[in-house]
Amino acid sequence: MKIPFLDIGATYRELKPEIDEAVARVLSSGWYILGPEVEAFEAEWAEYCDAGHAVGLANGMDALILALRALEIGPDHEVIVPSNTYIATWLAVSEVGATPVPVEPDPATHNIDPTRIEKAITPRTRAILPVHLYGQPADLDPILDIAHRHDLRVVEDAAQAHGARYKGKRIGVHGDIVCWSFYPGKNLGAFGDAGAVTTNDAALAEKVAVLRNYGSRRKYVNEVQGVNSRLDPIHAAVLRVKLASLDRWTDRRRKVAKIYSKALKSTNLILPHVPDWADPVWHLYVVRSQIREQLESRLTSEGVGTLIHYPIPPHMQDAYSYMGLAPESLPLAQRLASEVISLPISPHLAEKDVNAIADILSDRT
Ligand SMILES: *Cc1c(COP(=O)(O)O)cnc(C)c1O
Repeated sequence: MKIPFLDIGATYRELKPEIDEAVARVLSSGWYILGPEVEAFEAEWAEYCDAGHAVGLANGMDALILALRALEIGPDHEVIVPSNTYIATWLAVSEVGATPVPVEPDPATHNIDPTRIEKAITPRTRAILPVHLYGQPADLDPILDIAHRHDLRVVEDAAQAHGARYKGKRIGVHGDIVCWSFYPGKNLGAFGDAGAVTTNDAALAEKVAVLRNYGSRRKYVNEVQGVNSRLDPIHAAVLRVKLASLDRWTDRRRKVAKIYSKALKSTNLILPHVPDWADPVWHLYVVRSQIREQLESRLTSEGVGTLIHYPIPPHMQDAYSYMGLAPESLPLAQRLASEVISLPISPHLAEKDVNAIADILSDRT
């Protein structure tokens, strides 16, 4: 048996004629920076997210950085981030010169625990940056309520949550600005780096659009010190093709999750918990176990690929050693990092393979 964690080429094989046609269209058009293809994707992505505006960017990390910059968050400011997240969330805050202030997760959902946020607010706090981890929406209403009461902005990291819904409404405009990654392995992925922001705030969208293009609206006229972080037309064209399949692919992810959740119910594994207000898109299917290493090596020996999301929490990375945070200062993030393991999940995973993985785990736990 050979089941990779993710067959990254499967989306291309499925949609090859349409993707080849889209890429050829861009190459023949002679338009290689911004332009009609990027604008068309921005319009389609905004519509998909029920958002007023989308701005295409070079990657998800830049989406976070430029969202923070557009909100004028920088040195001397603090931004509340989850202790349990991919490090990009923290790095974006550091990159603009602000300080990431970690808040522990709700251990049931692994997402930031809104009841812990208020204790972390100081006079320097400017924003809350929830992450919709593994494709499961964070509990946004209490977060938005806290932000409102303390006059804070809400920047969402939706890099794993394309199409997810919170209380029936698509992720994309709950907070002030929502940051997307189209890294190849994400639920909607380009064949290279790509990202975007969505927002209902036209002025904010415009600010990001100017920042991504050297701070310029008009060629050779620079209003602010921007960067080059433009979405490439080739990626925009590919994303337009793939977007048409996203909901269908998400349904297949849901099916895989359902099989796992049913088959593993009576094992000792702690399975993903989905609150009734959440409609996750299963970017990852993450289970917890105190014998994680044993499961990992058993699955590996059976030819099943697994990954750990994430093995070292940001506060324990050398990159943040200067903060001097002890491991036990964020015990939940620490604990999740030592117990989580992600099982293969993708639209292209065969049902028999999902069942085979579940059988191995049932046998073992
Ligand atoms: C992938 C990811 C990012 C970064 O996106 P890139 O496009 O790789 O820069 C940020 N946050 C989270 C939670 C992610 O999963």
